[in-house]
Amino acid sequence: MVDARQAAYLQALGVDVYVPRSSPPWEAGIAAEADVPAVPAAPAPPPVVATHAPAAALQPDIVANLDWEQLRAAVAACQRCELHATRTQTVFGVGNPRARWMFIGEAPGAEEDKQGEPFVGRAGQLLTSMIRALGLRREDVFIANVLKCRPPDNRDPRPSEAVSCRGFLERQVALVNPTLIIAVGRIAAQNLLATETPIAKLRGKVHSFGAQAWPVVVTYHPAYLLRSPGEKRKSWQDLLHARQLFSRLEQESASGGRS
Ligand code: SF4
Repeated sequence: MVDARQAAYLQALGVDVYVPRSSPPWEAGIAAEADVPAVPAAPAPPPVVATHAPAAALQPDIVANLDWEQLRAAVAACQRCELHATRTQTVFGVGNPRARWMFIGEAPGAEEDKQGEPFVGRAGQLLTSMIRALGLRREDVFIANVLKCRPPDNRDPRPSEAVSCRGFLERQVALVNPTLIIAVGRIAAQNLLATETPIAKLRGKVHSFGAQAWPVVVTYHPAYLLRSPGEKRKSWQDLLHARQLFSRLEQESASGGRS
């Protein structure tokens, strides 16, 4: 049965749902109205596909040894790439520094640059709904971006900018040490996984990021979902997949299978 938070997420996606009262949770799928096909149950998580970033993309400097406040200060003062010249402020990230879930997007937009927080505005509201659909509050997770400064006119990050900023993200992930990372959108996924593979081929698999091979799954960016309603159903599948994988990883961790 679709519970209140899942219904809220689907409502935010613009999907009206009807589920028979006798339907079991998750296995029942979602009987949607005529113009929206039912969402199938999430497939069993496949084995982890190691997709490590090349060593050359990493920053061999002191960032890897900074604590949380030192890292925050280093980002705020950073002038490693040209984006420092046009930013209003850096956008470090927000949320629980010991979160089990980490959401990583592309870069701050205009509103994020103004407010200093990632994923605000309509896309941010939709991301918050997606987080709630997982049974979490926004403050339970940690949200960050590949880039900490806004690219002018919301252009895509340049490879050199992503490389310059990568050490900060790697240190953030190491400090949070999440059970699972959700790469939000094509740009974030391709940067995290150091690949040019299309997002459609990255979804539905389990990748890994960084020195400790943190598990990563990929879904669409909420801004894209707002523009492309036809893809909303797939993002729901991604969340079901992520939740199933998260439960498995937590169980493995509890039984000593993963540190
Ligand atoms: S985008 Fe990253 S590397 Fe570039 S100036 Fe901002 S914090 Fe520094």
